[in-house]
Amino acid sequence: MVEQNLFEDVKRHLCSCSADLQITPNLEAVMKMPMRELHVSIPVRMDDGSIRAFSGFRVQYNDALGPTKGGIRFHPDETIDTIRGLAAIMTWKCALHNLPLGGAKGGVICNPKKMSPGEIERLSRAYIQAISHFIGPDRDIPAPDVYTDSSVMAWMMDEYSKIFRKTTFGVITGKPVSLGGSEGREDATARGGWFVIREAAKDLGIPLDGARVAVQGFGNVGAHAAIIGQEQYSVRVVAVSDSRGGVFAGEGLDLRALLDHKEKTGSVMDFSGARNITNEELLALDIDILIPAALENVITIDNSSRVKARLIAEFANGPVTGDADALLQARGIPILPDILCNGGGVIVSYLEMVQNFNLDHWDGEEVQARLEKKMVDAYRAVHALASGNNVPMRQAGYTIAVGRVVTAMKYRGWV
Ligand code: NAD
Repeated sequence: MVEQNLFEDVKRHLCSCSADLQITPNLEAVMKMPMRELHVSIPVRMDDGSIRAFSGFRVQYNDALGPTKGGIRFHPDETIDTIRGLAAIMTWKCALHNLPLGGAKGGVICNPKKMSPGEIERLSRAYIQAISHFIGPDRDIPAPDVYTDSSVMAWMMDEYSKIFRKTTFGVITGKPVSLGGSEGREDATARGGWFVIREAAKDLGIPLDGARVAVQGFGNVGAHAAIIGQEQYSVRVVAVSDSRGGVFAGEGLDLRALLDHKEKTGSVMDFSGARNITNEELLALDIDILIPAALENVITIDNSSRVKARLIAEFANGPVTGDADALLQARGIPILPDILCNGGGVIVSYLEMVQNFNLDHWDGEEVQARLEKKMVDAYRAVHALASGNNVPMRQAGYTIAVGRVVTAMKYRGWV
């Protein structure tokens, strides 16, 4: 098995558009490095009285277009290169969606599934203490990501506000709605992804009514993706999975009952009326649309030949490795790339920032209308360039995004 490195893959995607954009090797080298990164050791008192030192990172990849923005992950397998890769993806995603923001990402190596709520709160606060002078509402604005949620964002906003002695909603997004959060942020990534699938399905001639869909991951993005797909687009979600494994039902899953089951048992597995499958089996199902919505590097050179879906929509960041991307492309399976498809989260985070700056609160309809316009505009731009130049949508997306960042760097006089 090949060791996968998300950051190396993202750099390859960047190179794919260098010739079209006439990017010199020197400029390419500049853009292959994060501008700043902070490594911290975070001491936390555990419930048994012991002290544990957790390793944490915050990477600000490129801020040519504006303050940097990107989520915070709590995960046992976190590495600095994954965080660098995710920070780079955020840079290109914000640029592609025409947001006045750069890209960043943060992470702490920890296993929140084995920590109490009190330990998670103390870790969240201690992480913010460690990075408080590195972030800020005009500088770098975190958000939720894998295994962090709106409660974690509330503790982090509170801790930052205590340090700087003023309530600072704008330092973090994805907060609870009652604490400066935006309507529609919780399901924004999934809802935005479906706007892109809807447009792509029209162009590809895939009817969504009754389309067979599998979703890998049943967390924030995956669970909302499954439910929005089934309830608003009438697709048939035949399989979903989580870190332990998946479930399959050919006639479609009862997703509301499955949510209750996951709440009670901690997993989607052993759900009545469905059969258990592995995550590998889910990726190889004979379906119309495959939505990877869990982690990076799940579709690889080893398993991509087994993928039978007619369309892959990357709701997760980096789910398809660089090598697998080329193989799927050669097999004619279109991929809606992460920087396009999962931009709904950062778009509504940006709308949350705008509301916080103006001490305003918009209703859900207003947020959704703005989200839909941004997602459809970005899809149309990517699709037009991809069809015009006969290149994959990922390459077209990178060409637009990297071009915007390079223009900003040139106007600033950096290069
Ligand atoms: P989450 O923590 O809410 O959910 C993650 C899900 O993935 C869980 O169901 C977990 O069980 C599952 N999972 C973990 N390891 C797995 C494995 N090895 N195989 C199968 N499933 C596994 O996280 P999330 O916020 O839903 O993020 C999911 C993906 O979407 C990540 O790639 C994240 O970077 C990306 N993303 C999230 C947002 C957001 O707004 N939350 C925005 C853009 C992109």
